[in-house]
Amino acid sequence: MEMGDMGDVAGRLGAAGVRGVALTWVDNAGLTRVKTVPVGRLADAARRGVGMSPVFDVYLVDDSMTSSPHVGGPDGDLRLRPDLDRLTVLAGQPGWAWAPVDRYRQDGAEYPACQRLFARRQVARAREEHGVELRMGFETEWVVTRPPREPGGEPGGEPGAGGEAAEAADRELRYPCAGPAYGMTRLVELSGYLSALMEAATAQDLGVLQLHPEYAPGQFEISVAPADPVGAADLAVLVRETVRAVSVRHGLAASFAPVVDPAGVGSGRHLHLSLWRGDRNLCGGGTGPHGMTGECEAFLAGVLRELPALLALGAPSPASYLRLRPSHWAGVFGCWGLENREAALRFVAGEPDRSDAANAEVKCFDGAANPYLVVGAVIAAGLAGLEAGLSLPPPVSGDPAAGPEEGRPPRLPESLAEALRHFEDSAVLREALGEPLFGAVAAVRRAEIELFADATPREIAAATRARY
Ligand code: GLU
Ligand code: MG
Repeated sequence: MEMGDMGDVAGRLGAAGVRGVALTWVDNAGLTRVKTVPVGRLADAARRGVGMSPVFDVYLVDDSMTSSPHVGGPDGDLRLRPDLDRLTVLAGQPGWAWAPVDRYRQDGAEYPACQRLFARRQVARAREEHGVELRMGFETEWVVTRPPREPGGEPGGEPGAGGEAAEAADRELRYPCAGPAYGMTRLVELSGYLSALMEAATAQDLGVLQLHPEYAPGQFEISVAPADPVGAADLAVLVRETVRAVSVRHGLAASFAPVVDPAGVGSGRHLHLSLWRGDRNLCGGGTGPHGMTGECEAFLAGVLRELPALLALGAPSPASYLRLRPSHWAGVFGCWGLENREAALRFVAGEPDRSDAANAEVKCFDGAANPYLVVGAVIAAGLAGLEAGLSLPPPVSGDPAAGPEEGRPPRLPESLAEALRHFEDSAVLREALGEPLFGAVAAVRRAEIELFADATPREIAAATRARY
């Protein structure tokens, strides 16, 4: 956006009743952090940026902090620069607009640990080095509950993570709907809430494809149309905060955590992707497996090869591994399959007459992930596959957990510690992320492993479900 247009923008925002603009970025723990400016200061923020400490790159899910070789401590400052092409008036939060930021150093250089700039760099590499573009879209699952009651009967905050507190919190889990999985009953029970959500999504042009009740109690899902990768990550942030805002206005709490109840089915945030050269979708109309082209196959093979390491970005919390269980449609096996919901990589061939709809879905990722890290790292892994001319192994059908152990595809990491080991060994991800960002991510993962080292699944769930 040209700065000359800024007067118009401020005028438009003012006319829409907007008073403040939320400028967000997502930290390495997966939490969306924010600074806000009044509408009158937006032009200045876009030009000069808004100050913010780099220390947030080593914040953990509980707001404690760790440090890494390049990040940590009280010194230094960054400039947050809103991307005004993404400026959106928030329908679920009257008086507010939103824009994601890129982060720069005070001397104007790109901040090397900025996750959104990392995603942008991978998009540029795909285009410049391989002449390909990616289309991506996240499916967002969440669980809606009634806020916990305080002893006096009033709604209050989530109790802490201690053993007794976790049990008390579990007893307090109250779902505002009782209908069955995927049941129309749930839609009837929460008709007002869900139609308000549709209204907000439409007003914000979120490009909603579907909204439906999911499997677990109180669980719903929203999917949006594919976009460019950075746009898809921005949308993931916007969708989540819109759902949260509408939930709050209906007296409900929305959790995007991998698990709310560790005994049940968790929430994923699957990533759909397709690879394009100009108008041609390389995932269809080819002579490879299920109609994919050789380039699509090599790209997906690169993603598949890197999945154990990618899990440290896409399933970044100790809570993620409470969700990643076989036979829960979470995609815990390191294999691919046509429409197979137990494969980490599910290929969707599209209808026979619509090869342009062909895409792949990475199922093992969840909502604790920083979506910018996810899209950038998946591109980096796919490009490495393209460069090496990799091929896919044969597809897997059925639930590998239901078949004999012999010949079963490999299980993806079963703990964050295991995923972190793969991440630290991944030359592809280390090089793509660059040391400052790579080191900060690894430090946050190590510190969260430590934070929850002695915690039970219920304690982990109780400590994380209100955070994401
Ligand atoms: N809730 C499942 C998960 O944890 C996904 C269900 C589905 O396939 O949409 O990822
Ligand atoms: Mg789903």
